[in-house]
Amino acid sequence: TSLFGGIPTAPPDSILGLTEAFQADKNPDKMNLSVGVYKDASGQTPILDCVKAAEQRLVDTEATKGYLPIDGGPDYRGHVRKLVFAETIAAERVTVVQTPGGTGALRESAAFIADQLSGRRVWVPSPTWANHNSVFASERLLVENYRYLGSDKKSFDIDGMLDDLSSKTNVGDAVLLHACCHNPTGVDPTPSQWAQIADVVAERGLLPLIDFAYQGFGHGLDEDAESIRAISAKCDELMVCSSFSKNFGLYSERVGALCVVSSDSATASAIQSQIKKLVRTNYSNPPRHGAAVVATILDDEKLTAQWHDELAMMRNRIKTLREQFVETMKTTGAGHDFSFLLDQNGMFSFSGLNPMQVDELLHKHSIYIVGSGRINVAGMSESRMGHLCEAIAKVVE
Ligand code: PLP
Repeated sequence: TSLFGGIPTAPPDSILGLTEAFQADKNPDKMNLSVGVYKDASGQTPILDCVKAAEQRLVDTEATKGYLPIDGGPDYRGHVRKLVFAETIAAERVTVVQTPGGTGALRESAAFIADQLSGRRVWVPSPTWANHNSVFASERLLVENYRYLGSDKKSFDIDGMLDDLSSKTNVGDAVLLHACCHNPTGVDPTPSQWAQIADVVAERGLLPLIDFAYQGFGHGLDEDAESIRAISAKCDELMVCSSFSKNFGLYSERVGALCVVSSDSATASAIQSQIKKLVRTNYSNPPRHGAAVVATILDDEKLTAQWHDELAMMRNRIKTLREQFVETMKTTGAGHDFSFLLDQNGMFSFSGLNPMQVDELLHKHSIYIVGSGRINVAGMSESRMGHLCEAIAKVVE
């Protein structure tokens, strides 16, 4: 008898599975608007110039590939704290742990909640990034949904969200918030709505668990952190999961961080020790290279300025693509107004296309979009906008 023979095939990942199908597609006009990766006008995901320069410096000066501390390099951790919180929170109250990407941070946050806290529920927006559900379920946390996107699939249902958070939650439940550039909808709260959310989270005694995967892709590095400032103004305890995959273009280097804010330094140290214990049995210690690149850039004024410019270029180009898409759709005569996309932020937009239309785009036009109708705007290109919009016009007719 075979030990492995009866193992069934797992379903492909809902997003990365599409990319596998895309790669196998022979249609020369194929277009992948599924996975959240920035592409330039030539369809490449470039390495930022500041990253290349930092890597060169590392090649010349790096003296060892020895293990990093379990919680990562101190220099990197200091920079992350400043990027996320600036000077709004005393350094001694913040635990920072370097993690393999934002996913690693989310997984460690879930492990920490499961290991140390009594609330075992996490509230996530409906809809949310599909992996949130799986990551939290992997740590045996109960995942519940709060209302987020309005029934028109375009607007933010602030009343539904506040109502769910204030009437259905228990003290100590965690509430997952997307700091900016909500994935998959691109629909974000306004600053005054963030203040309302912060009030409810604080009143109910919930633990804010903030996913910060797109810092700098919404309105700017500091502007995008305003949501976190709004929450920390009302809550002494919170967690932030940062990813530097998108804003440094370091996707495959796996660079991220988990920050935990507590009310005093003794608690912050205790939390640091507990998370280190969890990391030790998971991946032992984090990868060096990507975090060293980030720290090298942020240690150097010129490279930091260059990074700001390159990030602004990506952010602005996505905005332009969004506008160009809306304008080009108007010219197709499909009679379908997409101007609501202009209010959305970041890489993604909820297009309102239904699963049948998404399916038709894939099978008839080799255009790959996530089943929910989420489009990666950052995957569009100026030169192929006409082709994309004509295909969409055909399926919405
Ligand atoms: N959180 C959200 C909302 C994301 O969209 C992503 C990436 O797509 C992540 C977390 C994870 O990022 P990383 O690739 O750094 O693990």
